[in-house]
Amino acid sequence: MSDVKLDDIVSLAKRRGFVYPGSEIYGGEAGLYDFGPYGVELLNNIKKSWWRRNVQLKENYVGIDSAMFKNPRVWEASGHVAGFADPLAECRECHARIRVDKELAAIGVQADEKMSNEDLNKLFDDNRDKIKCPVCGKQNFTESKPFNMLVQSNLGDFTSENKRPVYLPGEACQGIYLNFKNVVDTTRMKIPFGIAQIGKAFRNEISPRNFLFRTRELEQADTQFFVKPHENKEAYERIKQDRWDWYVSDLGINPEKLRWHQHENLVFYASDAWDIEYSYPSLGFDEVEGIHDRTDYDLSQHMKYSGVDLNYIDPMTQEKYIPWVLETSMGMGRIFMAVMSDAYTVETMENGDTRTVLKLKPELAPVQYAVFPLLKNRPELVAKAREVYEELSKKFVCEWDDNGNIGKRYRRQDEIGTPYCVVIDFQTLEDGTVTVRDRDTTEQKRVKPEETAR
Ligand code: ATP
Repeated sequence: MSDVKLDDIVSLAKRRGFVYPGSEIYGGEAGLYDFGPYGVELLNNIKKSWWRRNVQLKENYVGIDSAMFKNPRVWEASGHVAGFADPLAECRECHARIRVDKELAAIGVQADEKMSNEDLNKLFDDNRDKIKCPVCGKQNFTESKPFNMLVQSNLGDFTSENKRPVYLPGEACQGIYLNFKNVVDTTRMKIPFGIAQIGKAFRNEISPRNFLFRTRELEQADTQFFVKPHENKEAYERIKQDRWDWYVSDLGINPEKLRWHQHENLVFYASDAWDIEYSYPSLGFDEVEGIHDRTDYDLSQHMKYSGVDLNYIDPMTQEKYIPWVLETSMGMGRIFMAVMSDAYTVETMENGDTRTVLKLKPELAPVQYAVFPLLKNRPELVAKAREVYEELSKKFVCEWDDNGNIGKRYRRQDEIGTPYCVVIDFQTLEDGTVTVRDRDTTEQKRVKPEETAR
């Protein structure tokens, strides 16, 4: 773990308009965050990069965007209504709630995901003396009970009893299964092929925490690759490698901060499951993305509950089968946090001052060029700078800044990760050249404005 703390990232995110606590003027709301002007640009650039790699550059993948609300039977078929539960205990003193498995993990005791509630309570009882209430510090908890995380709504129900609750999505990927048949029937996709989607999910997390790491509203970028039964192994390895490569080469994340984690306790239908973990400041290694080999479970369940035949018929051989699914599911908040943390650098400059820089890949940076007239009260400088700004804006995201001294303007751009700052000064008026300052080296070069764009 580096010296950088999670609080440094949270504080920069707030100070520079990346991420704000949700509903802040009302005192906030646990587990909810809003992306600010620079945050939404960075988030969109990460999504663009993901979509490019997983949809546009892959001949055998297509994207969809499904409605968030679904027929409530979907969540019965997926197992969420019956089993999407976390173990919850309440502090008898202050009524704070804890997630028992996570509190046990924090003291080094691993609870098996498949453990019965009774066994989990035994484990909890054996370790109660080591677990303190995070709010009041006391050790007086109720027993642990499973708590379903699905969030209900009354959409389309006009009775006061809400007899047919519908659910906000517990995970984004169900929309892909629901459209598997539509994609087969309306496109030229033939197995093996994949469907990708970025979508919102909602989870009634018992203890949302650690900034964007565990929130109640989240976004997931998912792919599902459909293969012939038993033809999963090679594709699974290829997908794992491809996901790793995206982190390192497309996002520029330091590979030493990444690692694989294989699940030991698989759900009954899964054949293999690995997570990509990132070493977050203050938290250490934890999951960013899950890559799961899920056999034919999901499509079989939807076939059973909907009564619709979801078998695939091979157009060449006429073989009929329910495809197996290889799934990747990445949390956008967690990758956003990983990208920000990885880029966050504090440097001491030659004059002894320190500067904070977000060393983001230029294509991910919220702003690519900042344009500064040296002085804002000199109309000839401002007019020339406007010309440069307008020209660069045709191709790049640019920001205009004529406030304060140049050094302060650089510091501000460093903190939001702008790779290049272009200064228009008196020499520009004489020979047309401008100064381009590089974020990472702080080197300044005089070039013609048309040479700034790279
Ligand atoms: P965890 O064990 O951390 O609760 P999970 O294994 O339940 O996560 P999945 O259901 O596999 O997570 O979801 C896929 C991805 O969605 C995760 O890898 C993570 O990046 C993200 N994710 C899941 N829950 C949350 C959450 N509450 N807040 C932010 N991101 C989340």
